[in-house]
Amino acid sequence: MAAEDHSAHDHHHHDQHGSELSEMQARVRALETILSEKGYVDPAALDRIIETYETEVGPHNGARIVARAWVDPEFRARLLADGSGAANSLGHVSPVGSHLIAVENTPEQHNLVVCTLCSCYPWEVLGLPPVWYKSAAFRSRAVIDPRSVLADFGVALPAETKIRVWDSTAETRFLVVPMRPEGTQGWSEERLAALVTRDSMVGTGLVTAP
Ligand code: FE
Repeated sequence: MAAEDHSAHDHHHHDQHGSELSEMQARVRALETILSEKGYVDPAALDRIIETYETEVGPHNGARIVARAWVDPEFRARLLADGSGAANSLGHVSPVGSHLIAVENTPEQHNLVVCTLCSCYPWEVLGLPPVWYKSAAFRSRAVIDPRSVLADFGVALPAETKIRVWDSTAETRFLVVPMRPEGTQGWSEERLAALVTRDSMVGTGLVTAP
């Protein structure tokens, strides 16, 4: 069942441009056609869902969560204990399922998120995944040699900082809570949220003060 869940969610974020369809894209298209013809799904409804993820749901949702965690210790504790519950308490466009786990970066441990099996990603808080997240190179190298992957993204961590790699599945998605940068004391939550990048919440970036 888990494997079927993977292919079911994966179809939303395959690139549709280009004339060459991958085997998966061809299968998805065939399935979508059959389901539409039999009246099980409404193509217009599918388009609305995709448009929502392209326009309304994006990394700004995750950034709000991170900024709140930085300024509100009680929220931070709740987020680390129950990622979905804490995220939903902020009132998102689409509710986060019961699968979101927040992992916090510290000077001792940096967290990196990957989906080695396919491309599971916390859509509700980060929007659509970037192309590199779905690449075979990232998915394999993130596990084998995370430090060199981070170097490719321009992230150099102190040698004593451990890197923990989290493998997403259809049932479990991860949100990295990056470290709050120095020199941001007294900043408003909104101003802090503007610093938080998508990559910092996947673990391939750090948050830096301007
Ligand atoms: Fe996946």
